[in-house]
Amino acid sequence: MHLDGARIFNASAALGRSVVELTRKFDSVMFCLSKGLGAPVGSMLVGSKEFFEEARLVRKMLGGGMRQAGVLAAAGLIALEEGPKHLPIDHENARFLAHGLSEIPGIKIDPAKIVTNILFFNVTDSGLTSFDISKRLAAQNVFANGVTPQMMRMVTHRDVDRAGCERALQALREVLQVPGKSAVA
Ligand SMILES: *Cc1c(COP(=O)(O)O)cnc(C)c1O
Repeated sequence: MHLDGARIFNASAALGRSVVELTRKFDSVMFCLSKGLGAPVGSMLVGSKEFFEEARLVRKMLGGGMRQAGVLAAAGLIALEEGPKHLPIDHENARFLAHGLSEIPGIKIDPAKIVTNILFFNVTDSGLTSFDISKRLAAQNVFANGVTPQMMRMVTHRDVDRAGCERALQALREVLQVPGKSAVA
């Protein structure tokens, strides 16, 4: 049984249970060195020696081999060694953002549901679409995706500190005071 554990270290930080414990029952595990752990690129595959030999072969067949991976592996090592201890801070910042968002008129979010570094919130009542809001935020160097016209996503990570979260909230307050052009039906 294989685990797509891309964000397993975030799960571990949120649950307060070690990655070893969470993955013990799986034969193989994949996880990302990028995303929360902060490397620019890279994922790891973990499993038995036999599984690994087969995986290497498949990777080669799919053209996924890379000869000059050392410099990326160095960044990956830092991600693996330094990344996990930063995740509780990301999660705290996400909760801070969620509370701030919940106080902005036009935004709906349940802060109790935010347990890792990813937030989804509803902007229907703002009279703007998520895509409009996204564009206006980007003009202030705050980047947040619209996932649907009603729902937006924000992600905290090691390059976003508490002051950055405050700036994002302030930008959002300003954007939502601007009269909207395209109202959500
Ligand atoms: C990001 C992600 C992947 C892919 O990882 P890459 O390193 O970008 O290839 C796979 N599964 C899940 C659930 C992910 O979030």
